[in-house]
Parts: sequence; C-alpha cells; structure tokens
Amino acid sequence: MIDTHTHIYENEFAGDLLETLARAESAGVKKYVFPAIDSESYGRMISTQKLMPGKAFCCMGLHPTSVNEDWEREISFVREKLQERCWVAIGEIGLDGHWSREFMDRQMELFREQMIIACEMDLPVIIHVRDATDELYRVLDELKGMSKMPRGVFHAFSGSYGTYLRLKSYGDFYFGIGGVVTFKNARVAETVARMPLESLLLETDAPYLAPVPNRGKRNEPSYLLYISQKIADIQGTDVETVRRITTENAERLFEFDKFV
Ligand SMILES: [Zn+2]
Repeated sequence: MIDTHTHIYENEFAGDLLETLARAESAGVKKYVFPAIDSESYGRMISTQKLMPGKAFCCMGLHPTSVNEDWEREISFVREKLQERCWVAIGEIGLDGHWSREFMDRQMELFREQMIIACEMDLPVIIHVRDATDELYRVLDELKGMSKMPRGVFHAFSGSYGTYLRLKSYGDFYFGIGGVVTFKNARVAETVARMPLESLLLETDAPYLAPVPNRGKRNEPSYLLYISQKIADIQGTDVETVRRITTENAERLFEFDKFV
C-alpha cells in the first residue's frame, strides 16, 4: 500500500518514528507521500524524507490554513523551493473556510496560482478543501475556462456522490479516502459504496483523523490496514483487490519511478 497523504515528519512522531515505520512495513506500506504545509514545517519534512530514500516523496505547496498575514513571504518561499529540486506533486494546496475566512480571497488567488504552476510543471496536485465548496467550484470553473487543469487528488474526500460526480467532471482526479470512512454514520461511506475503486487513493493524514478502532488517538501509516478493510467491506470486495488497485492508482498519479 501507499500512504498518499501523511505528515509523519511532524513532531508527534519525533520520539518513535522508527518504530512507527517498522509497524507500517509489517502492515505492507511501501511508499509515503509527504504534502508540504509551510516554511515552518519544511525542514522537518526534508530531513525525514532523507531517512527514507526511495520510500518517501515530498511535495511543495502552501497549505490554505497557512495563508495569513505572512502570505507573501510564504508563497515566495514556495516559488523559490519549486526551482531548487524535484517534487512529486504540488501540495497541499486548496481552500479552508473552517478555521478562518479572513483570507478567503487570498486563499482562492494562491490556490489558482499553484494550480497553474502544476500545469506548467506537469505535476499532479494534492487539494485540501474544508467548508469552501462554493469557492472551490468558482476556482475550478475559472481554470476550466482557461483550459488549464492539472491532474490530482482531492484529499480527505468526504462529499456526497453528487459532489464526486461534479469534481470528477473537471478532469483527471482521484479521491483520497482515510480514517473518516470508518467513523459511525460517516456520509462518505455511502459515497464510497458507489465510487469505482479506480477513483480511490488510500491515505491516513497522520497524525490526524485516526480510523476506528483508534479514533481520537494519533494516526499512523499502519492504520491503512483498517481503512482498506473498511473500503473492502463497503464495496463487498476483497481487501487484496482494494490494496492492489489503490496502489496502482497512486503509482499512475505520482509516477514515483521518475524520482528514484
Ligand atoms: Zn495534510
């Protein structure tokens, strides 16, 4: 399996990263995608990736919750780092109206800019959206009008089947499914039941959003076991098929072989 969205470079893992990776290895997790957040977490991301050559792949981008008073300095940092080395994707980028809407116009502008950069660099995007669906549609409609749309993934997807169909209509997009699918009464479970496996990627978003039976605790990559099993149960298929197809999807989207 591939954990296509994990922040194991964060301080939550500083004390037991090697043990965490050993558990992931036994669970069958072979690769990791590290989405960037901002300049503050950059050093941790890069130094952790160096411990895991050929297994961990870093992205570059400005997270929407880090679009604040410092946005100009942060986006310059991203532009500069994009020139310095190879990245597996642009991300995570997007829109977040949950924590604050103060910088929503700026979030939309920087999301649009980073989507266009991804097209120009021929890189996939990792998109974070929370409580900003209307704004998301506005940016995507505008990009579609400019005929610029990168391939990518809507990470931590939790929408309805209608939302899935609309987002899918914008282009070559996958949908990242994580711990939320295991929660009691999760709406996304009904959506996943109707989505083809060919649209799905596995992700943990560790250390956040741990699946049942560890809900509320620190999440970690080995918990892809629970997430993939839940998807198999929902779809009435065997877990090996879920793991194989979602791994193929991740390989197709991120083209890891180009980077090792
Ligand atoms: Zn994330």
